[in-house]
Amino acid sequence: MAVWKCNSCGATKESRCKPKKCPQCGAEGSMVKEEAKEDTPKKGAKRKKS
Ligand SMILES: [Zn+2]
Repeated sequence: MAVWKCNSCGATKESRCKPKKCPQCGAEGSMVKEEAKEDTPKKGAKRKKS
C-alpha cells in the first residue's frame, strides 16, 4: 500500500493507486507518493565495514 501526500495541504492518504485529487483540500494533481514509514530502509544509512 502506497501512501500519498498532498503537497498543497499536507494531507496523507493510503491508496494502491494515485488519487486524482486531495480528499482534504480537493486540489487536483497534488498527491505525491510518500515513502511508507514501515519497512523502509534509509538510503543514507551506511554499514560499518569491519
Ligand atoms: Zn490537500
